[in-house]
Amino acid sequence: MKTRIWPAIGAGALFSLSAVAQTAPEVTLTRIECGTGAKPTNVAERFTDTFAYKDLNLTFTFSCYLGFAPGSNPNAPKVGIVERLAEVKVKPEQVKYVGISHFHADHTGQLSPFANATLLIGKGDWDGITAIPPMQGANEAGFKDWMGANHRKVEALTLDKDVWGDGTVMVIRTPGHTPGHSSLLVRLKSGNNFLLSGDAAHFRENYESNGVPAFNYDRAQTVASIERMKKIAANLNATVIIQHDLRDIGKLPAFPAAAK
Ligand SMILES: [Zn+2]
Repeated sequence: MKTRIWPAIGAGALFSLSAVAQTAPEVTLTRIECGTGAKPTNVAERFTDTFAYKDLNLTFTFSCYLGFAPGSNPNAPKVGIVERLAEVKVKPEQVKYVGISHFHADHTGQLSPFANATLLIGKGDWDGITAIPPMQGANEAGFKDWMGANHRKVEALTLDKDVWGDGTVMVIRTPGHTPGHSSLLVRLKSGNNFLLSGDAAHFRENYESNGVPAFNYDRAQTVASIERMKKIAANLNATVIIQHDLRDIGKLPAFPAAAK
């Protein structure tokens, strides 16, 4: 039996797990909560380029997934992704894909243990990481195993990617926060659909108002990507999960439980 689990919330990262395939696998979706010391952020300071959100303080989530390595900073999780996966008897080398929403450090700090995984990344971000010097804000250190001699396999995506070819898991192009930013659409057997934002939006208020953080790569792309997400969500009746928004993470069951 092949298992496909897509951890969802927190760092905007995603991946699947696979064992020996006998029958068509069922896709499930879970969130891995590893604890955080994150303090409230005044989102008016950096998360708007139009001086919005006056006095709005939000505690962002930095859960687990492929995000910050445990102990690396106050926002980092208390437990690592490898330890959490061990709870369901999955070793990192069994994972077939690691997909990242974008190249920022809080989404890429725990990639290294996934030794056999193909990296799914937007081409704009891959180009930013591999540029000399790397693009501003790109955390190339997180990708060292996918660069240089004997590097692991990379798919630099210029288009959406239907990961399993059956529409259940699709990497969606949502550039703007970074040049190659991706979001993730997951369609489950039950008919429940989920759209995971990555950092296409950081909190509900900027998603709803097409707000653009001051540090985004491209304003027009950001607004267009949020518009795309809203249309997808409406057409597929998908639940949008804004992955840094503490108020959104309860929309998915906590690992090891999963939406099916
Ligand atoms: Zn980011």
